[in-house]
Amino acid sequence: MSFKFELTDEVTYVKGVGPRRAAALEKLNIFTKYDLLTHYPRTYENHSSLTKIGKILEGETVLVVGRISNITSRETSNRLTIINATLVDETGYIQLTWFNQKYLLTKLVNGMRLLVIGKAKFDSWSGRLSLNQIQSFTILEPDEEPELGIMPIYPSTAAISQQVLRTAVKNLLATMPPLKEILPQELIEEQNLISLDEAARAIHFPKDFLELDRARRRLAFDELFLIQCGLMLIKRQTQDERLGISHKKNGALVKAALEKLPFDLTGDQKKVFKTVTKDMESKLPMRRLIQGDVGSGKTVIALLALLKTVESGYQGAFMAPTEILASQHYEKFSALLTDLGIRVGLLSAKITRSKKLKEDLYQKISAHELDIIIGTHALIQEGVQFAKLGLVVTDEQHRFGVMQRATLEKKSDFVPDMLVMTATPIPRTMTLTVYGDLDVSLIKELPPGRKPIKTESKSIRSRKKVYEFVRTEILAGRQAYVVCPLIERSESEMLANIEPAEEIFDMLSNGIFRYIPCGLLHGKMKPRDKEDIMEKFHSGETKLLVSTTVIEVGVDVPNASVMVVEHAERFGLAQLHQLRGRVGRGAAKSYCILISDSKANVAKARLETMEATNDGFKLAEVDLKLRGPGQFFGEAQHGLPDLKIADVFRDVEILIQARDAAEKFITDDENLNYFAGLRENLALAYGDKFGQITAN
Ligand code: ADP
Ligand code: MG
Repeated sequence: MSFKFELTDEVTYVKGVGPRRAAALEKLNIFTKYDLLTHYPRTYENHSSLTKIGKILEGETVLVVGRISNITSRETSNRLTIINATLVDETGYIQLTWFNQKYLLTKLVNGMRLLVIGKAKFDSWSGRLSLNQIQSFTILEPDEEPELGIMPIYPSTAAISQQVLRTAVKNLLATMPPLKEILPQELIEEQNLISLDEAARAIHFPKDFLELDRARRRLAFDELFLIQCGLMLIKRQTQDERLGISHKKNGALVKAALEKLPFDLTGDQKKVFKTVTKDMESKLPMRRLIQGDVGSGKTVIALLALLKTVESGYQGAFMAPTEILASQHYEKFSALLTDLGIRVGLLSAKITRSKKLKEDLYQKISAHELDIIIGTHALIQEGVQFAKLGLVVTDEQHRFGVMQRATLEKKSDFVPDMLVMTATPIPRTMTLTVYGDLDVSLIKELPPGRKPIKTESKSIRSRKKVYEFVRTEILAGRQAYVVCPLIERSESEMLANIEPAEEIFDMLSNGIFRYIPCGLLHGKMKPRDKEDIMEKFHSGETKLLVSTTVIEVGVDVPNASVMVVEHAERFGLAQLHQLRGRVGRGAAKSYCILISDSKANVAKARLETMEATNDGFKLAEVDLKLRGPGQFFGEAQHGLPDLKIADVFRDVEILIQARDAAEKFITDDENLNYFAGLRENLALAYGDKFGQITAN
């Protein structure tokens, strides 16, 4: 998008956006005109023709215009507000129903004209058709003609209506001068793209679906192209030989650690460590991604690589995605390494809360009084200066952005080696493109003696039996997890009838587990409380841990042998597999029980796949096929900066085209003359970070 001064104007400069609406827009992260322009529709509705009320058929989604009357509201026993009204036109009338939108009572007035979009259902109570899945409605002036065509539906909140958003975008487009082209003309022709200006407008109000498609392709291409250029530059920059570190050959420390480990490395671990050793000894900076299923033993590789950097005279940093994981790694590493004279430090939120502790730690890092520093993203905060950073390991990389990796890299005069580890089974095309700047190693083999986790899918009717089984396991000395999709009940979830973690915890700790110490863990807790709960479970003080997915990554409690997942149909297969990896880490036979109430075939098929295989990569494939790419990973998981329009799964083809084009573009534009212009656009879209990386 062209870096035009007026697009950085505040959104209040758009006609119709006053301070109140601006405040509502802020909640959607819309601050400037640019933000509004790139607040792309979530989906579209085809409103090309109106239906007369008398002609509505059951099951149809229709667009109707009429006058409302008989507005009534009532509350159900579970505090749900239901609003009813009648909509009339010259051919008949139909009942409208809104669930749980009490605020509408202040908006709807008898006699008003409405344009309503909803799905017609047969209401067995009244014996008539009714519109009870109302997707949206617009209040019309007495003689206003309804607007027909393809309607954008924006991501929104209750505070701002679709209509207001549409009008704001329309007003912006009406006053906006044509956007300047940002791509070279040859590239536009070669890729058969429409102009940026056309695309930016058509994405909001397309004439037809063909135009919409072309607009989306253009904008997705731009987005992916810019990011790929950024990735290429990171790669090019770090390929500069003079900047890399040649680590020394493996010495006494690595050897001592290998001897101290209570096990031998598996074949795959040996192979991967050998590759890592070679990378680290080479002058070229290491950029390696290790993919290995949960429990495949990636941490040991990290440990050995960190020791290698230490014995070559450098410091190593180990970045974990959560506090819990960071302190868990810290404990394990300290236990093993303190004897060997290695100074290990933990940079956690707990420490950075105290100014004194923080400064003390920063000072030790910059004075090389610590050899290995473990932490969360606190490691890449301003102010952390390493004396001699030789290696950076990031665990569960999909939680970190490419940008964050690059920031850490800048903490050093020379380029440290980098190792990233992930259990997310990313399909190969993805690793090639999204992680374009990394080499990939796989750990396929699991450590010996692992018993496969027995997975069973159960209906909610068997819940009591399931928990009786869990109790037996606990009484035999084991521990158990119960995972729930939500923390607390929100209004929308009430409809879906999902029991949140808090309620399940109450039900269990006051019921069947009354005499057994239980804990509750969720993401909204204070870090200190989380650590506390986790510590108690880790030490075996609590036996049952009810939790949301915060325990998904990496937590290691070998004595836990059972996991129950409530409402399992709400999770993705890849995610269930990650969760399941929390058990089966000790000697005891382990179980994963998936409770669901879903009768849908797709959901059933998915859970059956979980029973049938323990192979994370296979599950990922099935997930992709069954659910489609959009839901495959949570959005935040691909590690790219927020994508506004492209979808790395759905748009693989565009991604590959953009990648090839970027490669050629960066190679041809040796001195980055042309790129200087593009960089402004990167800065506008992704903030300073990308700009800094590409600046030198
Ligand atoms: P992940 O790859 O999921 O990070 P971890 O590194 O946490 O896996 O390892 C899982 C468990 O397996 C740990 O308890 C670890 O000590 C153990 N482990 C790792 N490698 C081996 C091995 N070669 N033999 C036996 N146990 C191992
Ligand atoms: Mg791990």
